[in-house]
Amino acid sequence: MAASVKVAVRVRPFNSRETSRDAKCVIHMQGNTTCISNPKQPTHTAKSFTFDYSYWSHTTDDPAYISQKQVYLDIGEQMLLHAFEGYNVCIFAYGQTGAGKSYTMMGKPEPEEQGIIPQMCEDLFNRITENTDPDLSYSVEVSYMEIYCERVCDLLSPVCVVGLRVREHPILGPYVEDLTTHAVSNYRDITELMECGNRARTVAATNMNEASSRSHAVFTLIFSQRRRDVITNLTTEKVSKISLVDLAGSERAASSGAKGIRLKEGANINKSLTTLGKVISALCDMQNSKKKKSDYIPYRDSVLTWLLKENLGGNSRTVMIAAISPADINYEETLSTLRYADRAK
Ligand code: ADP
Repeated sequence: MAASVKVAVRVRPFNSRETSRDAKCVIHMQGNTTCISNPKQPTHTAKSFTFDYSYWSHTTDDPAYISQKQVYLDIGEQMLLHAFEGYNVCIFAYGQTGAGKSYTMMGKPEPEEQGIIPQMCEDLFNRITENTDPDLSYSVEVSYMEIYCERVCDLLSPVCVVGLRVREHPILGPYVEDLTTHAVSNYRDITELMECGNRARTVAATNMNEASSRSHAVFTLIFSQRRRDVITNLTTEKVSKISLVDLAGSERAASSGAKGIRLKEGANINKSLTTLGKVISALCDMQNSKKKKSDYIPYRDSVLTWLLKENLGGNSRTVMIAAISPADINYEETLSTLRYADRAK
């Protein structure tokens, strides 16, 4: 498996809909292997997939339950340390709506239920506060956007402007024109921005028929470290971009008989998720030297991958977390999520 892309799978508890339908669990995990059995062919051997992490979060009172804290320690902290080393990092959550993407990335307000994003922000500022080196200084800026139907909306702008332009800087790469960035000096500043952005997302979702499950949310930290050389008095700067992405639901529009705007949404989501899959798989092939560096990587085929270009390729570290439902009634979607995750290796 490529060193720069890691893949985790996490299975959540049954939800009330699944419980009320007396759903059966079709997922088993052992070590880092995830197995799925076909409810229509119970005598057939289960399909098995091996990932970097297989997280059993199905039964909360089970000692084997993998907590939010553990997911953070394995994935979030590791990525934060890479950012301190100067790498760009990207964590994204993939899966059908309701599979646990937002829970894993953002979580809930209770301390033990906070997801990767708030835990990482808190850890970042704890580490910054611990710094006693007078020649080392840090700064952090935050942006938060949503990509819906290939259009970018700033979740932290006082006025909601949908359809910001995506441009390319010759050195810094693709960026969103007029996207607001906010300097933050402590964890509380970030939580306020996060809450503000999450509220904006909810408002947009209500106005657009719960579009939040059909949009990608990208939370970005620009983390700069400046070191002054005591002898020359020159300052060098390392800048890392940390992108934390809650992807749109991966369920297929075709299966729900979608028409009109819904069909267009579905096509756009499929396009960006398919492109993301292709980009990651091309990068992995490159790492495993199946492809040459010059080989084409289709970043430009979707706004999402174009904007994440600097976080996916080159000097970066990526983790994909595939969130899955445990229930037999979601077998087809879950299998398709596992296959997608498997291709990212
Ligand atoms: P998605 O973002 O994929 O649409 P959510 O993250 O909103 O899905 O999850 C749906 C529900 O399942 C939420 O109410 C959430 O609290 C619950 N849930 C998801 N994952 C877990 C988990 N690992 N442990 C406990 N509850 C979870």
